[in-house]
Amino acid sequence: MNILHEPGAPSGNGTIPLSVPVLQGNEWNYIKECLDTGWVSSVGSYVDRFERDLAAFVGTKHAVACVNGTAAIHVALLVAGIGQDDEVLVSTLTFIAPVNAIRYTGAWPVFIDSELDTWQMDPQAVAEFLDQDCEVRNGQLTNKQTGRAVKAIMPVHILGHPVDMAPIMDLAKKYDLVVIEDASEALGAQYKGQNVGAIGDIATFSFNGNKIITTGGGGMLVTDNPDFARKAKYFSTQAKDDSLEYIHHEIGYNYRLPNVLAAMGCAQLEQLGKYIEKKLEIATRYQGAFSRTEGITPLPEAKWADSVFWLYTILIDPEVCGGDSRDLLRYLRAHRIQSRPLWQPAHLSPAHQYSLQRACPTAERLNAQAISLPCSVDLTEADQTRVIDAVLAWRDGAN
Ligand SMILES: *Cc1c(COP(=O)(O)O)cnc(C)c1O
Repeated sequence: MNILHEPGAPSGNGTIPLSVPVLQGNEWNYIKECLDTGWVSSVGSYVDRFERDLAAFVGTKHAVACVNGTAAIHVALLVAGIGQDDEVLVSTLTFIAPVNAIRYTGAWPVFIDSELDTWQMDPQAVAEFLDQDCEVRNGQLTNKQTGRAVKAIMPVHILGHPVDMAPIMDLAKKYDLVVIEDASEALGAQYKGQNVGAIGDIATFSFNGNKIITTGGGGMLVTDNPDFARKAKYFSTQAKDDSLEYIHHEIGYNYRLPNVLAAMGCAQLEQLGKYIEKKLEIATRYQGAFSRTEGITPLPEAKWADSVFWLYTILIDPEVCGGDSRDLLRYLRAHRIQSRPLWQPAHLSPAHQYSLQRACPTAERLNAQAISLPCSVDLTEADQTRVIDAVLAWRDGAN
């Protein structure tokens, strides 16, 4: 494996990387202050500030920093009371983390297909599952096929674009389900003018190296519910009830974000507005180059959405282009341009073969056709032109 080609790692030898962190604000100053004062571990003023600043940005009352985004999702499920043999509806076209986190609790994923228009969780598919495949038994919404209790919906806002949340919130209300937004890829995106992360009952973010802002590794849980917030802090600090005598009433986790990383988060958050502007500029240039090119479908943006275009992605129609997305990936690699397919849809994942099998044809089609292009916030116009020219040259028969 060539480490230079891993997302999040800087790339050498003239290769244009997919997405790398840019650390040009107060990162050094704030981290140095942690080192100088010795406040490097899981309590400290930067943890408090990062939680306060992120909650203020998203528009929630509470935020709890976690060691990574996956841990934040795990904790969100725990505080929502999800456990053994419950079921959680989740987007099938997603990075695997939310699906794995559902299994950590002993619950099971119910895979929901994507909408063709937005590539996001299809609210119609959610409605069909709840209306047709479930019934109330002893006061509990139950999956008729598995007999398991259906407890929550986890829409994943992929690629910086929001899920169509209104119908999902209506269904959650109708069926008394908790909504946990996985907003890892969409910090700053808006749905009908409202920030993602402030719509469901709980939401989570990731600050992994290739996310919109990074702490190296890190995550955050946000909520308006004070009880959820208190429990999230509790579960993420080993469920410690008495810090002098070390008394624990529950099995907790060591999921707190170290202060030294929170310091980096504070510095990154200061630059988020600038980063989003850059992401939009990059997306606008790509849209301009590809929107009238037959055989290439650029990442959509719904009328009701303000996307942050996290990983700029296009669909390749092999019938028209004479080669598929993987051919393009190899062509770009030969031209020292890093690109990447989207994730294998979770319903096809061997890791989740024992979960209920459901047909998700749209996600499969998107997976076959999608390819993400370089979109680091420091991508130069010249490098972007190189990417565009290479894609168009391939499309016009260089393959
Ligand atoms: C990155 C990501 C996560 C997990 O984040 P980590 O911080 O890497 O644990 C979860 N969900 C989605 C959709 C992601 O893209």
